[in-house]
Parts: sequence; C-alpha cells; structure tokens
Amino acid sequence: MPNTILVGAQWGDEGKGKVIDVLTDQADLVVRYQGGSNAGHTVIVDGKKHVLHLIPSGILHPGKVCVIGNGVVVDPIELLHEIRMIEGQGMVTAGRLWVSDRAHLAMSYHKALDKADEARRGADRKIGTTGRGIGPCYGDKVARNGLRIGDMLAPHFSDLVTQRVGAANATLHAMGAPTLDPATECETYLTVARALMPYIADTLTLVHQADADGKSILLEGAQGTMLDIDFGTYPFVTSSNATAGGACTGSGLSPRRIDRVVGVIKCYTTRVGEGPFPTEMKDAAGEDLRQRGAEFGATTGRPRRCGWFDAVVGRHAARVNGVDFWALTKLDVLDTLPVIKICVAYACDGKRYDAIPACLETFSRCEPIYEEMPGWMEPTSHITRYSDLPLKARTYVERLIGLLGGRLGLLSIGPARETTLRMAI
Ligand code: GDP
Repeated sequence: MPNTILVGAQWGDEGKGKVIDVLTDQADLVVRYQGGSNAGHTVIVDGKKHVLHLIPSGILHPGKVCVIGNGVVVDPIELLHEIRMIEGQGMVTAGRLWVSDRAHLAMSYHKALDKADEARRGADRKIGTTGRGIGPCYGDKVARNGLRIGDMLAPHFSDLVTQRVGAANATLHAMGAPTLDPATECETYLTVARALMPYIADTLTLVHQADADGKSILLEGAQGTMLDIDFGTYPFVTSSNATAGGACTGSGLSPRRIDRVVGVIKCYTTRVGEGPFPTEMKDAAGEDLRQRGAEFGATTGRPRRCGWFDAVVGRHAARVNGVDFWALTKLDVLDTLPVIKICVAYACDGKRYDAIPACLETFSRCEPIYEEMPGWMEPTSHITRYSDLPLKARTYVERLIGLLGGRLGLLSIGPARETTLRMAI
C-alpha cells in the first residue's frame, strides 16, 4: 500500500476534505502536516456534515489512526473542542488520535496579536487572515520563542505561559490593542493540558514504526499551493509550506518513503481573502458559480472569490509538488454553463507568461488568455461511470488534465462520498 501525500493545487478549498475521506479507505494512518485551525475540511458522511479544523477527517473512519504532526500549529482549546464534538457523535478518539509533542501551541495571545496586526495594516495592506493566530504562532516558532505541545507536560508549564503572555502583552499594549490576564490564561491552559495529556505522543516514532510495519500512510495538507509561504502569492499566503515538501518536514517521514503525490484541484478557481487572482469573475456569472458551488468559507463563512479554471496555477502546482495523480473536484458545479473558459497562459506588458511570475505586482496585472469550450448543460451528479458522463464534460476534463500533465486519479461530481468516480487512485 503506497504512502501518499495529498496537497491542494489552488488557493485552498479544493475539496481536499472529501478526497482525503475517500482515500482514507486505503490508509492505515492519516497525518496532518501543516497549518492550524485556520483550515476547515468539510466532509459529508451518511448525510451528516462534519467540519474539522485540526483533526484529520480519517477520524470519521472507525479503526484508522490519526496524527496531528509536528508541522501543525495546534490551538489546544480548539483541539479539545473537536475531540468532544467527535466523541459526542459516538466516535472513539482515545488510542486513535495522537498529537505530536513537537507541534507548536497556537495560544490566545497569538490570536490577539493576529487581530491587532491586521487592524494595524489597514484595509489595503491586510492579509485577510482568519484571525486564528496562525501567523504569529509560526513567527514565534521561527524566532525560537514558541511553546510546544510537549511543554504542556512540563511541571513549569504555567511559568512558561505567564512569561509568554507577559511578552505578548507588551507588544499588544504598544499596538494599542487589549491585553490578556496572565492568571486566567494559565488556569485555562492548565485545564486544557490535563485533558489533552492522553493524546500527546512522540509521533515521529509512531509514524516511522507504522512505515516499518508496512502500514499505508496518508499525509494530508491544508490550504493550497498558491497559499504556500514560498511558492504562493507572497505576502498573501499562509505561514507554512502547504506543498509536498511540507509533508516531510511536518511529519518527519523521509521524502524517500513517499510513493505518490495526489493534487486536489477544482474544475474552476476560488480564493478567500486578499491578493491577485487573474481569472476572477466579478460579474453575475461569478456570483452564480459561488451559489452553485456553495463557495463560502468552512471556517469563517466568508464568501469565496470565484473564477475560471487557471491552468497556469495548476501547472505551477504540478511542478512544485510533483503531482502524479489529480483529484478533480466539483465538475457538477459547471453543469448549467453554456460556455466554459480555461485560462491557458497570461499576458502582461506585451509578454506571454506560461508560469506564475514571482513579482506580485506583475502577477496582479496579468490578464488571462482564455480558451473556450462548450458546456454540457445536463446534470452529472447521479453518474456512476466515467464513460457515462456527457461527451462535452469528458472533453473538458481531458483538456484540463492535458494542460496539467499527470493522470486523472479521481473525479468528484458532488459533495457526498458516493458522488466520486475513481479511476487510478
Ligand atoms: P477543503 O478545505 O479543500 O477540504 O475544501 P472545503 O471542505 O472547504 O470545501 C469543499 C466544499 O465543497 C465542501 O462543502 C464539500 O462538501 C464540497 N465538495 C467537495 N467536492 C465536491 C464536488 O465534487 N461537488 C460539489 N458540488 N461539492 C463538493
């Protein structure tokens, strides 16, 4: 059974939650490797909707083991809340869910700093963060000021919290933002630490043992390639490596132990928050896509910006991640469109761009070069075999894969598990 990395190939919200849910059938261990509770996977099982921010959706499959890897920044309050929600629905988490002792803690003061920073940036410079403290937490990690999950087990944990809250308060005060009460923070985090103790583990050893035992590991990414701190539209990005490399650094599994990379990509494009988006549709057609695709953030409820499929973005993701198989999602959302556009390259300053320019200013002025294809104008969600899809739908899908390279592994034609056509994965 292969070890698989699953990545988002666009700006997140590609439908990774559902694809992970489907691929979990083949996996023994599901490992989340980066991001924090800013991510939100939506999975629909037996008609019931589950939104998970930190815990891998593999938890919805009895018997599968789930790991929150060292690369994730963990809000322990949110984690406890998710554990209780899952247990409240009759599922067992004890002995099946492990959080890395090396993962960093996303604390209340990180949230406060996140919000204060966005307010300070003002309307034209704000990143559009989810306000979950993820950026400040990764900032502390890199600055070597972070607290880790393992610190919750230390006898002096409350001293560490008091000290960090004090330091954060000085910054918040200087920014004119409200400060936090160290005693209240200590009390809260000590209570949470006690409750989380049974879930804390050396997940590096756990993952390696599973690999040595021949178990199949699924490494799941949050966000997407265009939000990657290095390869995304910096600075309108997330604070971690959402791409395939991050799967290894965020779990401790060697790149040599990876067998395949699956890229999840939507048949059109969406983006939440600020930053350039060449194929954005600012008209009624964009609004129509938003409604049909239910494009509202799982974490924030914010409307997502919608646009045509961008093959330049897709090729960028193919390169950076080394995508072997594509999981193409939300084909059904295009069912009613008479004409569908695909962006094949950009034009800027009289020059053609076949790759994403690193310069944000150039990227923000890129105009899409479109190809048009006829829509199939009939429903697809009920279809159970690829060959039964309308010819025009297949032609569209095959054109996308042709532009991206790699193979079509899976095609998703609806939100539910059953509305999935599995080809090569
Ligand atoms: P993620 O962050 O990549 O997991 O994406 P989200 O879960 O935030 O958003 C994906 C949304 O699309 C969820 O509401 C899914 O239920 C839904 N979804 C996934 N695949 C499909 C599909 O093929 N068709 C439709 N209509 N909805 C889908």
